[in-house]
Amino acid sequence: ATMPPLLSAIATAGRHGVLVKSAVAMERLGAVDRVALDKTGTLTEGTPKVTAVHGDDAALALAAAAELPSEHPLARAVVAEARARGLEIPEASDFTAEPGRGVRAVVDGREVRVRRAAGTHTDTAVEVLVDGSAAAVLDLSDRLREGAPEAVAALARLTGTPPALLTGDNAGAAARIAAEAGLTDVRAGLLPHEKAEAVREWERAGAKVLLVGDGVNDAPALAAAHTGIAMGRAGSDLALETADAVVVRDELRAIPAVVALSRRARRLVV
Ligand code: ADP
Ligand code: MG
Repeated sequence: ATMPPLLSAIATAGRHGVLVKSAVAMERLGAVDRVALDKTGTLTEGTPKVTAVHGDDAALALAAAAELPSEHPLARAVVAEARARGLEIPEASDFTAEPGRGVRAVVDGREVRVRRAAGTHTDTAVEVLVDGSAAAVLDLSDRLREGAPEAVAALARLTGTPPALLTGDNAGAAARIAAEAGLTDVRAGLLPHEKAEAVREWERAGAKVLLVGDGVNDAPALAAAHTGIAMGRAGSDLALETADAVVVRDELRAIPAVVALSRRARRLVV
């Protein structure tokens, strides 16, 4: 027997490094006409580095203590910078994470918070507060993924609409990555529920949205979208469960390839 077109498309998608979870998911991919991409871990590699510490090593060590249990890419960068400087990371307790905002913990009886820095920045910036007073600002930077501009251009061609960037990061960092990737529709400073709200707004206006994310603070948006694709390597377990497809090799160019594949398969299904 010949393989049904959607199953055969799933096999081909697998060779492109995309795990499509079902024939239904394979079919949905070809219906999308609007694409939104998350920034950190999706358009970017998701391995930011601390590029400057405006403050002393003690403040950095406190920030690292509060970030230690967090799985956020920025948290890993802060901890890595403290270790690279040979700092001793003090013991902390009472950790809380505020998704899309930052973290909080208690270190030596003091409350340490690491969160989005206020003010205007040209890249990612977080501030460290100790007992409510500003102790440091950390600048961070992440690299655009290879193949991002090509993937963005191909998705624009396929859907007839330029893809949008959705991010919780500040407007300066968003603008930098958007310019590198060739995106002009940018929404910055969004909390996780606001990313989902942006998706729902487009869907209410009649669009079928494809959301590409890594599941760190974009799981609600992945769930709200007509179709969700998770970046596999950086992707959280939640994202891998919520998404219709997983980009296993983290190759952004595979995304327009599977949308095109789905469209071809749909034409063969009658
Ligand atoms: P993105 O949309 O780029 O994937 P997130 O929604 O995960 O970003 O985070 C948005 C912003 O919230 C970050 O740019 C940062 O300023 C702040 N933030 C989130 N989590 C943390 C954390 N663990 N430590 C410091 N800042 C954080
Ligand atoms: Mg993200």
